Amino acid sequence: MSIFKAYDIRGIYSSEIDERVAYRIGAAFGTLNYGKIAVGCDTRLSGPQLKEHFIKGAISTGSEILDIGVVTTPVVVFAIEHFNCDGGVNITASHNPKEYNGFKLFDANAMPISYESGIGTLKEIFESENYRKGKGYSSTLAIKEDYINFILALVLARMKIGNRFSVVIDGSNGAAGLYAPEIYRRLGMTVNELNCTADGNFPGHDPDPSKEENLLDAKSRVKEAGADLGFVYDGDGDRLAVIDKDGTAVESSRIFSLLARFLLEEKPGAKIVHDALMSGMAIDTIKRYGGLAIPCRVGHTYIAQKMMEEAAELGGELSGHYYFKETFFADDAILASLKIIELISQEGKRLSELIKDFPDYVSENIRISVKESEKFSFIKKLKEELEREGYLLDCLDGVKVIFEDGWALFRASNTEPKISIAYESKDKEEYNKIKKFVQSIIERVPQ
Ligand SMILES: [Zn+2]
Repeated sequence: MSIFKAYDIRGIYSSEIDERVAYRIGAAFGTLNYGKIAVGCDTRLSGPQLKEHFIKGAISTGSEILDIGVVTTPVVVFAIEHFNCDGGVNITASHNPKEYNGFKLFDANAMPISYESGIGTLKEIFESENYRKGKGYSSTLAIKEDYINFILALVLARMKIGNRFSVVIDGSNGAAGLYAPEIYRRLGMTVNELNCTADGNFPGHDPDPSKEENLLDAKSRVKEAGADLGFVYDGDGDRLAVIDKDGTAVESSRIFSLLARFLLEEKPGAKIVHDALMSGMAIDTIKRYGGLAIPCRVGHTYIAQKMMEEAAELGGELSGHYYFKETFFADDAILASLKIIELISQEGKRLSELIKDFPDYVSENIRISVKESEKFSFIKKLKEELEREGYLLDCLDGVKVIFEDGWALFRASNTEPKISIAYESKDKEEYNKIKKFVQSIIERVPQ
């Protein structure tokens, strides 16, 4: 499988991505986005050497490199804006297991670069090795203090929380653990650190908070410590899971609904972008509070781009990514968690109380294995068949079948040989009907 994906470059170190590949990607990126480039990496073991070779490649094009060290992906976005860069790169495999590494790329507007908007061209330059030539240079830059001050300025004025508020922070041994505890402490909270040391072996658990098994440490620590809330971040600090005071994980659609409600009380009529997988709970909530819900394809490159085009204030993906206009449309998980605390501090209520009045939907998300070579053609064929059978379809991203009181969405995964399926309804009987329909489709998937 190619390392050049729909939203980023990703593969296994060192069989798919090694130092030589990193050099060539650096040279290709410097050719494509020539100028001043911010470069960071997460805590993966292969990060330092891949960064060194990426930088050497980019320098050979005449580019000027700002090496910003170990960072979350939102920090790279901040660096591009703050230092007026022509592009930026984080060397990270996000929430993937430790064997992986990769490159998330950003343009001069700090917009993530997708396959269509640049990775495809970068791949052509990479393959032809037809690079720009020049004499560049690199310098290291300590960015932590600037970023922390930037985030504090966004929330400080409204935070009324004292040291009696206590949080558990699980950094998953990734980059967020190097930033989040200090920000929380400066806001006066009591911080319980869990997996907040940088360790690319990820000894605590895999850095993916969308998987239940990776939340176990944080859940029990919240209860043991009697903390008010717990937050689990992924490897590069853009994916978040929230644990309530009683040690239960709160679904991302509830967190997003809460963030939307919070925003709309302050900015009535605001535009809010959500991915195609997002629960009707959040969409209903956005409408109920007078916001404009804008649907978008799944994937950070599409959400950020859509938000910029629409000048949207907030964005959200079911996988636990929350995007903000204030962070230049980046999905900053640290800011998302601070906003949850801000809301609690304003309303003086517990999280469980704040989320209980959202409409209840029954939903399920599953992934089914499929022959890699047939995953896209299966979705295309399914669309044609369902159209012929007279179903009402929405084809913004994959095939979404619209029922009277619910929906089912079928998509080919961009990263794995899988078909991802989501379905939901407000009504239990309708949900069971949709579930049966989904089962009948699953039988058609080529294994
Ligand atoms: Zn991530």
